[in-house]
Amino acid sequence: MREDENRLAVYAARESGSRGRLRAEPSAAYRGEYQRDRDRIIHSTAFRRLVYKTQVFVNHEGDLYRTRLTHSLEVSQIGRTVARALRLNETLVEAICLAHDLGHTPFGHAGQESLNACMREYGGFEHNLQSLRVVDELEAKYADFPGLNLTYESREGILKHCSASNARQLGELGERFLERRQPGLEAQIANLADAVAYNNHDVDDGLRAGLLGIDQLRGQTLFADCYDEVRARYPELEDRRLIYEIIRRMIDTVVTDMIDFTQHGLDQYRPETIDDVRTHSAPLVAFSEEINHLHSELKRFLNEHLYRHENVRRMTDSAKEMVEQLFTAYLADPGLMPADFSGRAGSGDQSAKARVVADYIAGMTDRYAIKEYERLSG
Ligand code: MG
Repeated sequence: MREDENRLAVYAARESGSRGRLRAEPSAAYRGEYQRDRDRIIHSTAFRRLVYKTQVFVNHEGDLYRTRLTHSLEVSQIGRTVARALRLNETLVEAICLAHDLGHTPFGHAGQESLNACMREYGGFEHNLQSLRVVDELEAKYADFPGLNLTYESREGILKHCSASNARQLGELGERFLERRQPGLEAQIANLADAVAYNNHDVDDGLRAGLLGIDQLRGQTLFADCYDEVRARYPELEDRRLIYEIIRRMIDTVVTDMIDFTQHGLDQYRPETIDDVRTHSAPLVAFSEEINHLHSELKRFLNEHLYRHENVRRMTDSAKEMVEQLFTAYLADPGLMPADFSGRAGSGDQSAKARVVADYIAGMTDRYAIKEYERLSG
């Protein structure tokens, strides 16, 4: 059954105009195609593993920090709000947001950098491309096909960026990176919702971890404006609630700006179909210049003061070491991996073997990687 498409704007993604799945399937009795995509993602093994994967803080450092799973849920919440306000396809946005980090390695960016370095001679490792590999090939649940067999529009949204050499191998899905076209608006929303989510929850986690201070953050205009507003209204508020009142206002500021600015652009450009969106010279989902500037400032600030903070780096350095050692061990002896992986590795050349090892490591949770490391290093 198709979702009600009458409420959607003309330039929204719609199932009736979908480019379909890699392998055709009969439609479901009471769910739309993007609903099925979202549901398959939620039921996937990779999605469940996100709960034990690092966002910024290594998973076992504390119970209160965001994990990849809670990050993905926050991205989805923000994305759905924007989609609904702009009369775009909310279910498709939800599917893309929930899947966008499925290919992330254990240990956050440290894990990704390390695995990419290990894979340098074998085509490299991009976590975003890996998310696509997860839904296209690696999930092993269905009798009739590998992966989740998602619709083109979900896959287009999951693949946010891609190197030219990888794009050339992806057929239709890779074309836009070579021809500099845009994805649909739903994909564009998911992309910005990701940035809004981490910029804000990392402020929260950074404060909670004691690595950032309120006074230090008051140097950031987005934070300072909301701080002043909350302080003026609630002079006695304690820090924990103060911080949350600030962050909810920060999210509201940038999300409102994104909705207004994007709607304004759509009213001016007047795309008539999703393909008009795809051929537009730049993404139509965007912040105003002012908010874009402040949002990027905050991102730079977090980069300098949180992601590169000594305490964060100390955790991530040991993570890099573990990923490297695991990679070397499995590549030398694929038999150390479970049978389905060692079987796949056995039949290929060195480069194909390395790809199987990368798939195996990328799928690990933080704690499983640590356990494996301890097992292999005695
Ligand atoms: Mg993300």
